[in-house]
Amino acid sequence: MSAQLLDGTRIATAIKAEVATEVAALTAAGATPGLAVVLVGEDPASQVYTRNKVKTCHALGIHSEHLVFGAETTTEQLLAVVGELNERDDIDGILVQLPLPSQCDAKRVLLAVDPDKDVDGFHPINVGRLSTQRPGLVPCTPLGVMEILRRSNIAIEGQEAVVVGRSDIVGKPVAMLLTNGHATVTICHSRTRDLPGVCRRADIVIAAIGRTGMITPEFVKPGATVIDVGINRVSDRAEFERLFAGDARREAEFTTKGSTLCGDVHPSVAQVAGALTPVPGGVGPLTIAMLMVNTVTAARRRRGLS
Ligand code: NAP
Repeated sequence: MSAQLLDGTRIATAIKAEVATEVAALTAAGATPGLAVVLVGEDPASQVYTRNKVKTCHALGIHSEHLVFGAETTTEQLLAVVGELNERDDIDGILVQLPLPSQCDAKRVLLAVDPDKDVDGFHPINVGRLSTQRPGLVPCTPLGVMEILRRSNIAIEGQEAVVVGRSDIVGKPVAMLLTNGHATVTICHSRTRDLPGVCRRADIVIAAIGRTGMITPEFVKPGATVIDVGINRVSDRAEFERLFAGDARREAEFTTKGSTLCGDVHPSVAQVAGALTPVPGGVGPLTIAMLMVNTVTAARRRRGLS
């Protein structure tokens, strides 16, 4: 048996096409959605992420601004920037790229973002809205996980779901979304006893751990759906062999680039699971797509549109 691969790239492309149509309608009504992406410092990964977000906005017709500040920027300066963006009517979404340099108080900065423009969904007001099922903005990666399940016709209601990882960004919100979708949800973490046994109860396993290939076939009930949120770079040859021995395509990539990407799920899980998201090309592409969705959602709500 080999699991059905859930193609996140295809799903993200469909979502972005839907967003572009909505943006065109909003623009025709004189209400183009606007996103401000704030980058502080010169972290190369953050530069790539923010550039991709702005590029995707352009492709979909969303107005976007890439605000770049030096690595020495203070918390007070950032608070002033966020304050101005909060006041601007043409900006519907504000995204402060994390991590911030160490002198910046990230919690204070994120708390300063107007919750109705908080397209990352990290503000405590939005966390509260999610847990009490009020309209709000929900973190992008967990929303993406739900879209993969929904668009792949994977039942949630009444199912046993196990989420491995309890971060504020992924684990907790995805567990809340699954609970709101009427799954029976167990949240696991580094202190969970008998993690393989708990995971084996699940109809749906969500892995958001940050540990390369940790979820092996012994964690998975035959036929279960496995969603792999992890993104880990593998550059060690022995580690590569543990994960991808015999995979000619990966071998070629590893030889050329010196590394490859792997999720938190071991590739051999494909022999046991009913459905599985690949890495890359699974949850990853959904994160930017859902940021675009959140920007449009914020724009509609701020303008009193349904
Ligand atoms: P995180 O904040 O480091 O949280 C990791 C969670 O995993 C923690 O709750 C931790 O437990 C748990 N954990 C760690 N080791 C474990 C073990 N041996 N057994 C059981 N649980 C364990 O990470 P995150 O931000 O949620 O991200 C998780 C992964 O998703 C990373 O690979 C990250 O790169 C990826 N990610 C991908 C996207 C995307 O767009 N696809 C977006 C965000 C994150 P404790 O709480 O007990 O420490």
